Amino acid sequence: MNATAAADGFAEAYGRAPEGTWSAPGRVNLIGEFTDYNEGFVLPTTLPFSTRASGARRGDGRVRVASAQNPGGAGEATEAIELSALRPGSVPGWPGYALGVLWSLEESGHAIGGVDVYVDSEVPMGAGLSSSAALECSVALAMRELFGLELSLEQLALVAQRAENEFVGVPCGIMDQMASLLCVPGHALLLDARSLEHRQVPFALGEAGLVLMVLDTRVRHELGSSAYADRRSACERAAAALGVRALRDVDPADLDEAEARLGDRELARRVRHVVTEGARVLEVARLLEQSRVAEVGPVLTVGHRSLRDDFEVSCVELDVAVDAALGAGALGARMVGGGFGGSAIALVPSERADAVGAAVTGAFSAAGLRSPRVFAAAPESALRER
Ligand code: ADP
Ligand code: MG
Repeated sequence: MNATAAADGFAEAYGRAPEGTWSAPGRVNLIGEFTDYNEGFVLPTTLPFSTRASGARRGDGRVRVASAQNPGGAGEATEAIELSALRPGSVPGWPGYALGVLWSLEESGHAIGGVDVYVDSEVPMGAGLSSSAALECSVALAMRELFGLELSLEQLALVAQRAENEFVGVPCGIMDQMASLLCVPGHALLLDARSLEHRQVPFALGEAGLVLMVLDTRVRHELGSSAYADRRSACERAAAALGVRALRDVDPADLDEAEARLGDRELARRVRHVVTEGARVLEVARLLEQSRVAEVGPVLTVGHRSLRDDFEVSCVELDVAVDAALGAGALGARMVGGGFGGSAIALVPSERADAVGAAVTGAFSAAGLRSPRVFAAAPESALRER
């Protein structure tokens, strides 16, 4: 898929040519899970898969969106509605992610006008690889240029996040949108989710003879979204009980004392994950900056155990994927994203990539699970070879 596919789709859906096509990639988070809404650090890296949004303005103040991936009708445009009629909760289903960006721009004081948008994407949906942010960000980039908005990428990320939080109603943190707009290939983005300060950290996998593999379980357990909200509110309660603005402010050196003060064992485990995970992000960033890429592996695995045992958001499929990858020679592996399904990642010596892929697929089959999807996230050359 390329920009032409989205432009062709646009022409077919709307019977005219788009004014342009804008692109935003999916991401995978190397380390730093559930740290973003605790105002801590994350370390995402870009995927060689993108969402493209083709767009053209209309003179009547109305808006329409269409997606090649619309499960209810590929490429079928939504009914044209007045931009001013967009309200949170008024647009069910996938169009909310795209129209939410238009609403969010207007709400944030950035006047736009009527527009037709067509999206086409390679980012697997619902796999923890952030197809939602890729969609929002491709649309946000389109709007910025079509309507000449003076917005930085950081500001666009906030607009896109607001769309997902308030218009779609998903309480996601800022990582996905920042990653989609700011990650560059061959690097990971060290992002402070509190200040939005960020810097590119070299992630030279190819030079180190390594491949980052994505193990998509292709399951998504129902529990996922309620657990996300539950964990998020647990973190907020814990921060309030500890008298800090967010769990990011708990120093790892003070963790034992903080846990003792909380009393509640479950809450203490949630805090332990967030605080130790924050330290792992900084450790991985330091290792990458020192070109010690292989040493990142064990940190990822410790991160998985923390998510499984302390934050309790893993599931059988993710554990099977991680264990099988490690058993077949991965240097490290962990679940990524919200948990209860979605994907895991594994850091793998290039020559073990096929063995790891086969081991994961074999373990799923032995456990009676639906076949997973396994691919290399980076370097891109590994993807083409596989
Ligand atoms: P993830 O971001 O991990 O892929 P989410 O649940 O956050 O998972 O977002 C997935 C949802 O985003 C899909 O169910 C769909 O509503 C919407 N979406 C993402 N990409 C597209 C697309 N290309 N076309 C239509 N809807 C999309
Ligand atoms: Mg998402």
